[in-house]
Amino acid sequence: MSVRWGLIGASTIARQFMINAIRAQTDGEVAAVMSSSTERAEAYARENGIPAAVSTVEALLNSDIDAVYISTTNELHLDQGMAAIKAGKHVLCEKPLALTSADARKMVAAARQAGIVFGTNHHLRNAGAHRAMREAIAAGRIGKPIAARVFHSVFLPANLQGWRITRPEAGGGVVLDITVHDADTLRFVLGDDPAEVSAFTQSAGMAGSGLEDGAMCIWRFKSGVIAQSHEGFTTKYAGTGFEVHGTDGSLIAANVMTQKPVGSVLLRTASGEEELNFDREDLYARSVRQFHAAIRDEGQPAATGEDGIWSLASAEAALQSSKTGKAVAIDPQLGSIA
Ligand code: NDP
Repeated sequence: MSVRWGLIGASTIARQFMINAIRAQTDGEVAAVMSSSTERAEAYARENGIPAAVSTVEALLNSDIDAVYISTTNELHLDQGMAAIKAGKHVLCEKPLALTSADARKMVAAARQAGIVFGTNHHLRNAGAHRAMREAIAAGRIGKPIAARVFHSVFLPANLQGWRITRPEAGGGVVLDITVHDADTLRFVLGDDPAEVSAFTQSAGMAGSGLEDGAMCIWRFKSGVIAQSHEGFTTKYAGTGFEVHGTDGSLIAANVMTQKPVGSVLLRTASGEEELNFDREDLYARSVRQFHAAIRDEGQPAATGEDGIWSLASAEAALQSSKTGKAVAIDPQLGSIA
């Protein structure tokens, strides 16, 4: 049976990646789109070949759909997610799940109680490069991990220079936008949880309204691994990367903090250098595939609701640290919800 999706939000990410990712499934259908504006909903439906366009969440939830994909601005995720859960729809929600981890916990707890599938769209876990790194570390190929470095400072394209750099109330800023992904990818690749973070943020000329457009974070993981991550909207030529250094080897990945299945992963040990081969499946298509499997009760979404709580709690701690100038503990209880 096919999974009929309703899109909550006539967004860029749905248009560029998620509609195709749903249609790449043998059992996936984009049934309807909801925008807060009737005109935008209709235009978006027409441009993307979506059969139905509605302008309220209620109308979307009353239509013949099984699951929703939420990709509105961040302040709307909580209420829209709660409404979908109440209506018994499965929910794949964009990051950050909400504006606070406390709100994210509410949503994830409600989803669990309702018995629906709830996932966070952390696409980078679906990248073959990150999965190859996770497997190499778990197999002991770099010995005991010591330190990691994440290079994820980009240039925000002109078409996205909107709410992210102007609207704090919509959850703008680079930390809620990119640091959440870095926290999640570090957790995934290392197979470890962060215990504390220390962060500096900056406004380097793009973001206004007191929002940050650059951040450098230092993380301490439970195992003792330390990590650094750099997120930015204003660097045109930096390139991206992810490194993990261990007692017996280093993994050095280039061009992997991206939406496309590209990049390279090098393993360097006493025996020399080896390029790791990895799967090049589209990241978003894999995310939807895993989500469909979870609906069939075959496993979990690639990133669960709990993973979304962790990444938001981590970003929240980074923002708090940047304000107080002190390292901030990431509450270990946040990962476990009764
Ligand atoms: P967009 O700015 O493209 O869309 C967000 C909202 O803005 C839409 O829901 C829409 O509201 C409104 N909007 C869009 N175009 C217009 C317009 N011309 N005039 C007025 N309003 C408009 O956001 P993104 O697609 O970049 O991000 C959406 C969400 O997805 C965020 O939560 C973000 O964090 C996340 N994201 C995740 C990524 C990932 O890889 N996991 C990548 C990019 C974003 P309405 O629906 O009411 O029409």
